[in-house]
Amino acid sequence: MSPSQAPPDPGAATTRMSVDLTALAANWLSLRELSGSARCGAAVKADGYGIGAIEAASRLAREGCRDFFVADANEGASLRPHLPDVRIHVLNGVFEDSFAQILAHDLVPVINSTEQAAFWTGTADGRAYALHIDTGMNRLGLTPEQAAAYAQSDAPPPALLMSHFACADEPGHPLNARQIEMFEALKACFPSIEASLANSAGIHLGKPAHHDLTRPGISLYGGNPVADANPKMRPVVTAETRVLQIRQARAGQPVSYGAAHFLSRDSRIAVCGIGYADGFLRAGSGAGVPLRSAAPKGAFGAINGKRVPVIGKITMDLTMFDVTDLGEDEIGAGSWIELFGPTISLEEAAQAAGTISYEMLTSLGRRHARRYTG
Ligand SMILES: *Cc1c(COP(=O)(O)O)cnc(C)c1O
Repeated sequence: MSPSQAPPDPGAATTRMSVDLTALAANWLSLRELSGSARCGAAVKADGYGIGAIEAASRLAREGCRDFFVADANEGASLRPHLPDVRIHVLNGVFEDSFAQILAHDLVPVINSTEQAAFWTGTADGRAYALHIDTGMNRLGLTPEQAAAYAQSDAPPPALLMSHFACADEPGHPLNARQIEMFEALKACFPSIEASLANSAGIHLGKPAHHDLTRPGISLYGGNPVADANPKMRPVVTAETRVLQIRQARAGQPVSYGAAHFLSRDSRIAVCGIGYADGFLRAGSGAGVPLRSAAPKGAFGAINGKRVPVIGKITMDLTMFDVTDLGEDEIGAGSWIELFGPTISLEEAAQAAGTISYEMLTSLGRRHARRYTG
């Protein structure tokens, strides 16, 4: 949160999210179970995928989680005062500029290149680091050749060897097996060093993916990246918006910017206080955005378990829903409409905007009043 912006007052907010920390803990316990004999860590980068890294990590630490992953040293520094005795890994590595902060907060950098390795081992006085090897996605990490050579060098060994799956959400993708095989081979070059490969989806690939430590992120927060995986994760976040006004409109009239949607019947419209500035992405509009010529429908809201479609373009701060099919007593100014949560899954809400659960959660803006339970 930027210092210029106080947390929203719940009474004044027209969009809110509630975070069920009991469900978060239950999801972690399920993932730990699925991880077999491996320890189960937690990715809490990007402010805990938008739900609040301090709240999420503190709850998981109470449950027994000891290995956390953040993206940069700032995220690690803000967690440290709340979690004095856990390992906090910094996935984006170390720079000369972040070295002091990494030391001050006792963070473990994930070293991603031979240059970073030389810098850290030359400067950090034997402190622990993790070594990331790229086994097939050309993102961060040493190449397999560099890693094999590094293992032969006289550099002090890493505390943790890791790699990351490119396609684990598609269990049948041939790259999964290739990455597992390559990681296995490289692990043999670093005898008796702990290894970590699996993210949420990777955990479902079974024992060959588990090694010593797993690193789930999205599934902790209720995401189900593998379509038919068992068990289903419990929803953690419920996002809702408030109805500001109900209006009656006539068949044939247009709705929202660009007059891109025309009502096919006399309609009741709920105008709600959420928009793309709150992460309710414009691509989820009911009509008038490029995605609507490719995907059949836009986003939905839900009230009393009944779905109501977004109509017309989602605007910066406001969204219109067609509530004609609801009873008069079911909705009115001041009512709350669910955007995702118990009725509408995070995946469904994301797909309606042509995106993924990860982007949906991390896009939630700063205007949501947040409530934590559990
Ligand atoms: C984000 C991330 C994770 C967690 O991934 P999910 O798909 O959210 O489970 C694990 N490892 C690395 C390196 C990551 O960047």
